[in-house]
Amino acid sequence: MVPSKVAVAGGKGGVGKTLLSVALAHALDVPLVDCDVTEPDVPAYLPLEVKRELFDVEQPVPVRTEDCKGCGECERRCPWDALDDPMACDGCGICGAACPVDAIKFESERLGAVVEAVCERLGLTVRYPDAEPWAPELASVVVNSLADLDAFVADCPAGLGCPVIATLTSVEAAVLVGTPDEAALRDLERAERLATELDVPYVKVLNMAEGHVGKGDFDVVIPKLPALHEAAQNRDPEGIVRELKPYVETVLEAIRA
Ligand code: SF4
Ligand code: SF4
Repeated sequence: MVPSKVAVAGGKGGVGKTLLSVALAHALDVPLVDCDVTEPDVPAYLPLEVKRELFDVEQPVPVRTEDCKGCGECERRCPWDALDDPMACDGCGICGAACPVDAIKFESERLGAVVEAVCERLGLTVRYPDAEPWAPELASVVVNSLADLDAFVADCPAGLGCPVIATLTSVEAAVLVGTPDEAALRDLERAERLATELDVPYVKVLNMAEGHVGKGDFDVVIPKLPALHEAAQNRDPEGIVRELKPYVETVLEAIRA
């Protein structure tokens, strides 16, 4: 039986996780969740029609009250020059602590939402964050949004930070992806250690393999696919699915095994 909740991760960015996630979600006929809060890639590769906003992303931002004496200390202390720019504020609270007359209060400001969209051409439902990426709340809103889904493929962001760890704890299996370069393979090894630590079964994919590469200890090896690259650039969903189809079938066989 194929697990119904699958994360695609790997550590390094640019190794092809997103396209593989699209093809996997399509093959499994489950929603795709783009968990990359800094730069959701799925909308860049698929023509999507947003259907609704699912979860608000809100963040407390500082507001100067009438007690403000105009000393400017809060502005001087803010690391991001964000007193009048909620989009730049990371909610650290330094300004409030710095104010000598306690004239800063925090009010909730909406910075965006996790939205549900559809790629009609694939019949694929996609969730992704449409919000200011600096919002500290965003990662938890996206990961929490997995809780109401019975089945999904989660496209994890690069790195192995808290959002990836939280996502891996929400799934039944992981597809760990790397490319044949030192940095990606090192990150892939760390991703394997993390999955093992979290007791998440995984399959290992070597993507964009050049020339004749043996399987080694990889479950699936995907060569460089120029037509896939072209399909992604052209936002051609059928092309993405078609090019990856044989490899996705192998990934699913490996997950079943
Ligand atoms: S909460 Fe932090 S980032 Fe936001 S305005 Fe205050 S000092 Fe700047
Ligand atoms: S530190 Fe306090 S008193 Fe000074 S400008 Fe900021 S809010 Fe006003």
